[in-house]
Amino acid sequence: MRIETVAVKAGLEPEGASRAIAPSITLSTTFERGEDGSYPGGFDYSRSGNPNRRALEVALAALEGGPEAVAFPSGMAATFSVIFSLSPGDHVVAADDAYYGTGVLLRDQFSERGIEASFVDMTDLNEVRSAMRPNTRLVWMETPSNPLIRISDVEGLAGIAREGGALSCCDNTWATPLLQRPLELGADLVMHSTTKYFGGHSDVTGGAVIVREPGATLEALRKMQSDGGLIPSPFDAWLTRRGLESLAARMAMHCDNALELARFLDAHPGVERVHYPGLEDDPGHALAARQMSGFGGMLAFDVVGGRDEAFAVAAAVNVIARATSLGGTHSLIEHRASVEGPTTRAPENLLRMSVGLEHPEDLKEDLALALAHAVR
Ligand SMILES: *Cc1c(COP(=O)(O)O)cnc(C)c1O
Repeated sequence: MRIETVAVKAGLEPEGASRAIAPSITLSTTFERGEDGSYPGGFDYSRSGNPNRRALEVALAALEGGPEAVAFPSGMAATFSVIFSLSPGDHVVAADDAYYGTGVLLRDQFSERGIEASFVDMTDLNEVRSAMRPNTRLVWMETPSNPLIRISDVEGLAGIAREGGALSCCDNTWATPLLQRPLELGADLVMHSTTKYFGGHSDVTGGAVIVREPGATLEALRKMQSDGGLIPSPFDAWLTRRGLESLAARMAMHCDNALELARFLDAHPGVERVHYPGLEDDPGHALAARQMSGFGGMLAFDVVGGRDEAFAVAAAVNVIARATSLGGTHSLIEHRASVEGPTTRAPENLLRMSVGLEHPEDLKEDLALALAHAVR
């Protein structure tokens, strides 16, 4: 089955006597046991398993091409669980522009518990190679990255990890398996914030990890669910599974709209620079064209001027919403530097956009008016 079909069908069967095509939400926390002590329905208690979570995990595994997926209540719970599977004394090499919360987690929570991390520029394979130590157990990559939409070489990074005896994990939230297939490129684990494109409508928080093969890491992740209690609710799992059904159609439109907007902004005198790998002169273009099948729905641009001008543009939009996050139907714009605070790597004149599913002409008109108003 092709990925568009997988996104619609995987993990779902017509249900029960009604033969309902859309799955129902199973709220029961407990499931009947057979006379012989077995669980004929395949579930015993909701912390260890639930039909909606199961359907979601089957679909996520199929989409990324791994044998199993483990669903979590948020992207950060997924990241937390991967790092928690390491031991004190282990070392992590992480992208210096990984999701802001990933850096915070490694610096604040895990360094206190004896897991060290080095933060490196993952677009430079030599820098990654020299950051590897004998105790490096995990290489954490994320591409495209935030906020400069930079592209790093998944195959190259996975190779460096493997040579060093470490696992590689790719945060594939921004690309989704529709555009980028980390397991095929050699990564051991794929992590997702399903809050973004998978849910797709800005109405459900979730996360997942997909493994390349069964083994110790998969077992550790399953224990985070069954023993640690890190599970999504049945409704959240249902919403996320439902979001997947339209993922392929949405991603195609996100990519088209983002490219059109990037070209428009690139030609605009009020814009100093556009960060989008779909533009031919973007530093990540060649690599993205090779390792991705589309350039994604995220872009950033530097407004002519500084912080005040960037704020003024964000203040003047009407169709585009001023909000953080990404991957939903609504286009969102945000000033990353003020969201991330003093340790930010975002330029003060940068605005990040999650390009949604509105008509691109409406988005262009909105930005044109905002730029005319703010940048003189
Ligand atoms: C949002 C996001 C996360 C964190 O996920 P939550 O669902 O907010 O916990 C991690 N990585 C990336 C790339 C994200 O965009």
